[in-house]
Amino acid sequence: MAKAILETKGLTIAADETPLLHEIDLTIDEGTTHVLMGPNGAGKSTLGSALMGNPEYTATAGSIIFDGQDITELSPDKRSAAGLFMSFQAPVEVPGVPLFTFLRAIVAQRPDLKLRGPKLKKRITEIMAQLDMDPSYLDRELNVGFSGGEKKKVEMLQLLLLQPKLAILDETDSGLDVDALDTVSRAIRIYQEEMNGSLLMITHNTRILEHLDVDQVHVLVRGRLVDAGCASLINEINDHGFERYVGQAGSGAASVAAAQAKAAAAKEEPQFDAALAIENMEAALAEADAKAGE
Ligand code: ADP
Ligand code: MG
Repeated sequence: MAKAILETKGLTIAADETPLLHEIDLTIDEGTTHVLMGPNGAGKSTLGSALMGNPEYTATAGSIIFDGQDITELSPDKRSAAGLFMSFQAPVEVPGVPLFTFLRAIVAQRPDLKLRGPKLKKRITEIMAQLDMDPSYLDRELNVGFSGGEKKKVEMLQLLLLQPKLAILDETDSGLDVDALDTVSRAIRIYQEEMNGSLLMITHNTRILEHLDVDQVHVLVRGRLVDAGCASLINEINDHGFERYVGQAGSGAASVAAAQAKAAAAKEEPQFDAALAIENMEAALAEADAKAGE
């Protein structure tokens, strides 16, 4: 039977008392690829960050079970050590810290990888070759002056080096040129196939999904999961957008507005009739013309 690597139950997330995510039930099985879609501001990045343990967010209800362990209250470094990984929409620049030093530091948190000394350097160089990255990058300050594509390659380098059990990729593919997109999707495929990695991919870009096996798609609207389906849901959303979900998201304000509109339509009071108004106006103008001609 498939084993869940991640399971959230009734997960509700707030920032400064403001609820942002409501009762999220999400199960990701080992070795499967899930896609999270939703309009801008739906809460996709918030969900990723909250799963990773960003202290900006508090779980006010529900739980996060990762690899059989309740991690709801764990710090990000403990979640990372447990095998959770997130690639950010906008990777940070760290002046003064060479890429190699940074990689050595993150690998030091993962003694289980048994990558020390020359072994580490060898493994990093191997991955860099797979990503078409020049080894001279190792001496450069982390992400400083790197192009968008290079930053995303650094993220993929970390992914392949750390071999997490679950990787959350937040729009890793956005804004990349064709070559960089190719490299990134190749890295994701290596992670999927050679490492049996599990993925939660936040993306708008269906190009990257064409080359990856997707097991499930989830739709997040206004902080709620409103739909789930197989890979074909991606094409459906591409064709029709999120229109049909908006208003169904159970947002208090939206349902109240809908109820009010319905009530207004049902009222006996005469509604504004544009066609009739134009007819009346034309009649009035004709009458004025006729009078002027007299
Ligand atoms: P998405 O990634 O789906 O575009 P986000 O997760 O970035 O959406 O944001 C969802 C909503 O949550 C936005 O309205 C955003 O302003 C709000 N939000 C995110 N983080 C915080 C925070 N730390 N404090 C207050 N509001 C936040
Ligand atoms: Mg986002």
